Amino acid sequence: MISMINGKTELMGVIGNPVTHTMSPTIHNTLAACMGKNMVYVPFPVKEDISNAIAGAFALGVVGMNVTVPYKSAVIPHLKSIDSKAEQIGAVNTLVRTENGYKGYNTDMPGLYRALLSEGIEISGNRIIIVGAGGAARAAAFLCAWKQAKEVYLLNRTPQKAVRIRDEIIEKTGFTNVIPLALCEYDKIPGEGYLVLQATKAGLYPHVEETPISEPNFFQKAGVVYDLIYTPQETTFMRLAREQGAKAYHGLKMLLYQGVLAYELWNNVTVPEDVIASVYEVLKKECGIHE
Ligand code: NAP
Repeated sequence: MISMINGKTELMGVIGNPVTHTMSPTIHNTLAACMGKNMVYVPFPVKEDISNAIAGAFALGVVGMNVTVPYKSAVIPHLKSIDSKAEQIGAVNTLVRTENGYKGYNTDMPGLYRALLSEGIEISGNRIIIVGAGGAARAAAFLCAWKQAKEVYLLNRTPQKAVRIRDEIIEKTGFTNVIPLALCEYDKIPGEGYLVLQATKAGLYPHVEETPISEPNFFQKAGVVYDLIYTPQETTFMRLAREQGAKAYHGLKMLLYQGVLAYELWNNVTVPEDVIASVYEVLKKECGIHE
């Protein structure tokens, strides 16, 4: 945290409902302190009326904001402009102030990409299974299309949602190798060695015993698992994957990098690797992660 708030302090924040558990203030206030930037980042609980919240923030001179659940799509009509990739996904998590209003970006998806790269995991040319078809899975599926994955199996409890994402990806990107399936149809996926992205809420604290799939046969298809959940540190899904010999990672680095990318957009800087590493240490401590 900066040592003194004064007349030059810039205000940033996150809008959502609820925002009491957000880790974004930790990320951005630590980044600002490390980078010597005179800014503060606070949670803005927006119960309703996203339109007035955005207009009010702009009028008050707020320089940048993150957007979280439930407003990632609802915010779009209230923006001055939108980055083309965020527009394709239909979700915005970062607002950058421009002369006449905010421009919307999506840093969740490149955040996931950087997190994967930092573990030595590539998407291009890889065979991928995405579990889930909510907002995060959708962004991950578009990422796989843009990075030209070899093929993407999209498994969801409600298979119609996976079908809708497949149709949209074909329409918007021209990428046709998305195969929607119900969770119970995983045995239609041929072979093994897949990168598995776990993007459901099943297993999220406090429901740590839940998992979208538990059959060992499924985990035998996995080479590497990346679970977007970061509390707990090891989900049941990750444990089952490890039991079948797969590598498994939690999603804290995705959270870290979506924050770093937002900070870079707001401040037009590149955050050095040693600063990113320091912020990650603070985040791990806050989340009770030891490794
Ligand atoms: P969402 O839009 O609400 O989607 C939830 C997904 O979870 C849907 O596919 C839903 O299936 C599925 N699901 C929920 N309970 C399930 C259960 N018991 N069994 C099987 N499937 C179940 O949520 P989201 O925003 O995409 O978030 C998904 C996950 O990603 C969350 O755990 C979130 O914490 C994590 N996430 C992490 C980061 C990060 O930075 N690391 C960022 C964003 C999200 P149905 O469609 O059938 O309901």
